[in-house]
Parts: sequence; C-alpha cells; structure tokens
Amino acid sequence: MTEKGVAYDGFPSSEELSRSRRVPPRERMARGPLAVIECVQEIPCNPCESACPRGAITVGRPITNLPRLDDDRCTGCGQCLAACPGLAIFVIDLSRAGDGGAAGREPTGEALVSFPYERLPSPSVDQMVMATDRAGQGIAAGRVVKVRRAKAFDQTAIVTLAVPARLAGEIRGLDPSSIRPSEAVIRPGSPREVRPT
Ligand code: SF4
Ligand code: SF4
Repeated sequence: MTEKGVAYDGFPSSEELSRSRRVPPRERMARGPLAVIECVQEIPCNPCESACPRGAITVGRPITNLPRLDDDRCTGCGQCLAACPGLAIFVIDLSRAGDGGAAGREPTGEALVSFPYERLPSPSVDQMVMATDRAGQGIAAGRVVKVRRAKAFDQTAIVTLAVPARLAGEIRGLDPSSIRPSEAVIRPGSPREVRPT
C-alpha cells in the first residue's frame, strides 16, 4: 500500500495506521499532548488545515493529500478534533505515563486520550465510563477528566479520558450506554436535559 492511502474498512487498524505512518512517536507524546491524525483516505477534505491556530497541519494541493502534522508546532489544543468531519483526529498525552518515552517498553500508569463526542448526554467530569476502541468495543474503564464545549466546536464536545497508558494507542471513544444519566451534564434548555441528582 502506498504512503498516501491504505485499505479502508470502516476504521483503520493499528497495522494499517502503522503502515501509513499515522502513528506519532511515543517520545513526543511523552512530552505532552499531541494530535494523532488517523485520516487514511484520499478524499477532498481539509478543514483540519485551517482549524489549527499553530499551522501544524498541512494538506496543501491537491486537496486529496493526506494531512501532515508538524509535531513540534502542535500544542494538543484540540481545535482540529472538532473541525474534522471524519472524526479522525485525537489527542494523546503520555506525560503522566511511566516509561512513556522509552522505545520498546510498554508504558505504565495513566494516559490522557481526547476525542470528539457528538452524542447527548455528554459524560460528566470524574464519571467512570467504558472506553472503546476504534470499532466501538469496550476495552477498559476510563475516568472523564474534561468535557469541553466551545462555540467554535459547533455541536461537538471534546471529551478527555484518563485510561491505562498501555491502551492509549487503541482507545478512541466511549460507550454511550456507560454514561449514567443521573450524572450527565446536558446544556440548559436541551429537551433531553437531565439534572444531576
Ligand atoms: S491539536 Fe491544536 S495545535 Fe495540534 S494540530 Fe490540532 S489544532 Fe493544531
Ligand atoms: S478534516 Fe479530518 S477527514 Fe478531513 S483531511 Fe483533515 S483529518 Fe482528514
């Protein structure tokens, strides 16, 4: 498979991502939050490029180029996550993980994984939820560390989970059914508003 594309099967496998060089260096993630762009289809799309305030993402011409990330420019702010219509960008922070930067060693401790979440209700901070892999399968418990909603994000929330660091490369979402409604945070005025008890 070429550098510019991989076989797409609904979601990219770790092997496909590795082959297409979409896996960022662990050493960089150990220094702090970094965008992880898992965009492997050569489609005409580039909102991530203009969304980044640091100019860290380049698509260029033709617009079907796969996005390139400048690791040194990225601050892990998360703005590109909400801008991506393919929900293909995540932020991983391994700075809390033991051995996070050691090549060939499995990181221990905790990692922070941020992802776009478009469903309601959103989880609430400190709630324990089921973290899921790219296929939506639950693989570990995760603690909600942050839920960000900004005007610039439109209807997309950016959720950050603290998860086992060894699974940071696999966890890409959460199981909506693991959100307990009594703990949910819904924007005031929403027809589905549920107030915490
Ligand atoms: S996380 Fe922030 S700084 Fe990094 S690429 Fe995305 S928008 Fe740019
Ligand atoms: S916005 Fe998302 S889907 Fe579009 S090019 Fe960027 S990463 Fe790929």
